[in-house]
Amino acid sequence: MTSARPFNFSAGPATLPEPVLCQVAAEMLDWGGSGMSVMEMSHRGKEFGAILERAEADLRELLAVPANFRILFMQGGGLGENAIVPLNLSRGGKVDVVVTGSWSRKSAAEARRYADVHVAAEDNGREIPVGWTLRDDASYVHVCTNETIDGVEFHDLPRLTNGVPLVIDCSSHLLSRPIDWQRVGLAFGGAQKNIGPAGLTLVFVREDLLGHAMDICPTAFNYETVAANHSMYNTPPTFAIYVAGLVFQWVKQLDYAGKRGLAAIEQRNIDKAGLLYAALDASAFYENRVAANCRSRMNVPFFLKDDRLNETFLAEAKDRGLLQLKGHKSVGGMRASIYNAMPLEGVQALVSFLQDFEARHG
Ligand SMILES: *Cc1c(COP(=O)(O)O)cnc(C)c1O
Repeated sequence: MTSARPFNFSAGPATLPEPVLCQVAAEMLDWGGSGMSVMEMSHRGKEFGAILERAEADLRELLAVPANFRILFMQGGGLGENAIVPLNLSRGGKVDVVVTGSWSRKSAAEARRYADVHVAAEDNGREIPVGWTLRDDASYVHVCTNETIDGVEFHDLPRLTNGVPLVIDCSSHLLSRPIDWQRVGLAFGGAQKNIGPAGLTLVFVREDLLGHAMDICPTAFNYETVAANHSMYNTPPTFAIYVAGLVFQWVKQLDYAGKRGLAAIEQRNIDKAGLLYAALDASAFYENRVAANCRSRMNVPFFLKDDRLNETFLAEAKDRGLLQLKGHKSVGGMRASIYNAMPLEGVQALVSFLQDFEARHG
């Protein structure tokens, strides 16, 4: 499929697969002969029921989610989950957090309002710290498995041996690779990075972790209530679920390098990231500062040697159809987010621009 649209490197809300956007446009006024837009349907009607059921089944299949995990379609975003998780799991007791960057630091601060939080290890956003001081009586351990701002990713999930459940904030790499469910008690992620529009939050929760919510937990955010009502205790974000469902179908049928579905998307992500990091490393003009063993496949922050060129870089990139490359304000420099929906051609175009810009300004 050839496209005249620019390549969009936004960290989120982020680029979506073009075939999905086209299908959404085609179905906007009349979904499946119903005479209604998905936005206009009752969430309890049979049409939306079918959309939600298929989205959940496809997601469960894609990520091989075991039967003892419930999938919840919620609202509140990743930041909402920073409160919702302790409200459901901590019982007001102990929570251990491993800080690897901006998002896990925020998670620790929010959980502190409900629980006794201990930072088990901390790094400044360039590598995954070692020597975690975990407490055996913690109610869970929180890690952010892809730090969107810092560009630090866990390529293997930690294996906790003390029976304490692991909670992962996987907002920005959910569905980019498999998840080792043996090591996870709960996973959450906002949709707007890799899955669909903003407004939908996905929660995967092991059944034994349901039913422990604190009294002050809002009913609409009580995992047990949400699970018992099949994500329909209150009105779920119907349109976002519909678009996410189309993205799941798109991933399922994706072919790449002789692979299909999640394996194809993972291989494509490995290749895209490999190409971009190789180009950055080959140059003295650009620099990525993250340790090689935990560089993110999704979010690639980088710096120009001379940051007086930043504005010129962004303006020229935009002229070349390469959008939203400005780094997060807390880090500076540039950031290329290359989520599932970014095609290989987008990264190739970025690499060729990097080389051309260096040739002219280096
Ligand atoms: C974007 C992001 C969040 C925040 O998501 P909101 O939907 O804005 O609440 C939390 N954690 C990570 C890792 C993120 O990338």
